[in-house]
Order: sequence, then structure tokens, then C-alpha cells
Amino acid sequence: MTDGRTLGFDTLQVHAGASPDPATGARQTPIYQTTAYVFRDADHAAALFNLQEVGYIYSRLTNPTVQVLAERIATLEGGAGAVCCSSGHAAQIMALFPLMGPGRNIVVSTRLYGGTITQFSQTIKRFGWSARFVDMDDVDAVRNAIDDDTRALFCESIANPGGYVTDIPLMAEIAAEAGLPLIVDNTSATPYLCNPIALGATLVVHSTTKYLTGNGTVTGGCVVDSGKFDWSASGKFPSLSEPEPAYHGLVFHQALGPMAFTFHSIAVGLRDLGMTMNPQGAHYTLLGIETLSLRMARHVENAVKVAEWLEKDPRVESVTYAGLPSSNYHGRAQKICPKGAGALFTFAVKGGYEACVKLVDSLELFSHVANLGDARSLVIHSASTTHRQLTPEQQEAAGAAPNMVRVSIGIEDADDLIADLDQALAKATA
Ligand SMILES: *Cc1c(COP(=O)(O)O)cnc(C)c1O
Repeated sequence: MTDGRTLGFDTLQVHAGASPDPATGARQTPIYQTTAYVFRDADHAAALFNLQEVGYIYSRLTNPTVQVLAERIATLEGGAGAVCCSSGHAAQIMALFPLMGPGRNIVVSTRLYGGTITQFSQTIKRFGWSARFVDMDDVDAVRNAIDDDTRALFCESIANPGGYVTDIPLMAEIAAEAGLPLIVDNTSATPYLCNPIALGATLVVHSTTKYLTGNGTVTGGCVVDSGKFDWSASGKFPSLSEPEPAYHGLVFHQALGPMAFTFHSIAVGLRDLGMTMNPQGAHYTLLGIETLSLRMARHVENAVKVAEWLEKDPRVESVTYAGLPSSNYHGRAQKICPKGAGALFTFAVKGGYEACVKLVDSLELFSHVANLGDARSLVIHSASTTHRQLTPEQQEAAGAAPNMVRVSIGIEDADDLIADLDQALAKATA
């Protein structure tokens, strides 16, 4: 903008990263369903491969449609750069990849998405990496878990599914003391409700599958880098601060400054791991993001109405939602995500496991699916589905006890959602 105004969120969610298509003038970002890009000449090709010039080589690395999405998410999160990938779980591996090596560990919150707990407690061991799970409300436990081999702290802004909000500024402070980056999964909050980078996070990861796309059409992920971390300060991040053998000895931090992490993620991460987002998927997510603020405001408004109604219902034992004044995390939520505590919460049904299963089977508008962040309202009994591979202790810690049902409140009429819950609770507790 010529007058130096900074654009608002609602404007950026529609415009950031995009301009009329240079070839055709098309106003909407075209789907570049394309793989390879012609080099002007041999010098141009060499400059691209040396990262001296930015351009397109091959769509496993970058693609014009996917690039618009990466820039849009980076802008909304207040980051220097971003890399899109094939799913939220791919984004987590991509976030860790430049930082980790055999024998290295991450200190992570116990309150995480079920699939993330499995990825961190089991699968990453095959790379020689490990995760140390700690209660992030226990500051001493977090500090004590960090050792010389720790390379990052990892948490979710609003944790899924426990109605938990992480004290991001405090975790950022502990990470900074230890010279480590803080990685925040901002999937449940979205940049509309929470800005982890403004609160001190180094990297933000997303499952774009959820609210950013918003309609249950495609899987995708994204890693945003704040561009603020000094990768050279400690010698702990040689992929970024020393000659990278996987990229003909380029010193990424020296050559690319605040874009070091993003370029490494593309030039080495996407090149060799291949967890690439496809252009059609990026297109759906770009369409979704255009209405992110409108949808999130309605998601939150509906979630508060439904949660307040459930809390008063005698068939319900408790509601765990940081958007309710009864939550232990209400005060923290107002600081971390002042526009609302998201639209995902759990409630405990009188009658335990059996009643929960009956409730889920009796709902009509709510769909029983392993997903969240859809325009449609969704329900799941975590203990018998997404969290069934966890031990009872892990289930409890993650807010997925056997008597708990998780809902992802959509953008329908709140009264219709309440009526559906009312009839299903009647059947479940009859
Ligand atoms: C869904 C989800 C993931 C994993 O994302 P996928 O796109 O399913 O791979 C990670 N973290 C959170 C908080 C999620 O909700």
C-alpha cells in the first residue's frame, strides 16, 4: 500500500501472495497443474540450482500455485517464509528435519493430537530421533527434560482434544534460555485466533487439512519460519549453519539469512523427502483461506453456545472447553487467543464408554469422523478411535478418557446442533 498502511487480516487472507496471473491476467490464482519449467538458458539453470535466483525448476520443489499458498500462510502467521507439504504429519517431519540428527531429541507436550503422539513416541525413533513428553504446565519438568542433545520444544497452541491452551510466551522463554527453537502446531487455533510467532515461537506447523481449507476436501500441511532464530549461535544446527553436504556445501544461514530454514526445507527437505503438496490441493486451500476469519468467528460463536448448553445439561458430567469461564485455562486462553478458544472441545457423558458410543451413533447432523475443522459439525469418541492405540495414562493426559466425546463445532445454526445433541443424549442416557 502506498500510504504505508499495514493491511488487516481479512484483506491479507484474500490477497497475500497473489497477484493477477502474469500470463493471462486471471484474477483468481490458476491451478498450475505442471511439473517442469523451461530454463531460459544454461546460465539461468545454473543460477536456479545455486539458489542465486528464485524460480521454478520442478514441482517436487516449488510450484506457482503452491507458492501462493505458502506466501499467504507465511503472511497470516507473520513469518518470513513457509513451505507447504502433503499433510500435517509431513509438516511435522519437515519442521524437525533441518534441526535433528541421530541421537537428538525434542521436548514435547503431553497434550497433542493422537497421531502426533504416535509419530513422536514411535515412528521418529527409526531416524534415531526421540521425544520426551512433559506436562508443559510444569515448568521445572520442561527445563529438566532439556539436555545437550535437545534440538527443539514442540507444543500445540490450543491442544486437541483436551481443551488445553499452552502458555506459549513461557515456553518461548524457556526455549530461548536453552538456545532452542519453539515449534507450535497452530492447527486448532489458526492464525486468526492465535499468532504463535508474535508470542515468541520460532516455527509454526499446520495441518491445512483442517480449518485453513475448512471443508474436508484435501490433506495438506505447512511449516512457517519466523526468520528470527539465529541458527549459527550454538553450533547445534549444522545443516543450517555449516556447509550442507546434501547441497554442495552451501551454508544456508550465511547465504540466505532469515530465509535459511525455508530454502533448506525446499532445496533439501522437499527435494529428498518428497512430501510435496499438489497444486490442486493448494487451490482448494487457497479458496478456503479467503473466508477463514468469517468461518472462525462463527465456529467460535457456535462452540460457545453449544458448550454453554451442554454444561447446564444434567446428562452431561462436564465440559472441557477453554472458551468457558469454568475452564482452568479460560484466563490463559484470553491472553493467547483473545478472539476465542477455538471450536473443538470434549465433554464427559454420564454413563461412560457405553453412553458415549450410543451418543455418537444417535447423532444425525453431527458426522462421526476422524477429522476436525470442517464447516460441518463432527463428533468422535477418541478413546475408541483416534486415541485407541495409546495407553490409558496417555489417553487421560491427552484429554481422551473413555467417558469423553470430542466435538468439532461447525458453522451451521447453533440451535440445530443443540437440538441434535439433545435427542442423541436422550437416547444415550435412557
Ligand atoms: C490433523 C492434525 C495433524 C495431522 O495433520 P494431517 O493433515 O492429518 O496429517 C496434526 N496436528 C493437529 C493438531 C491436527 O489436528
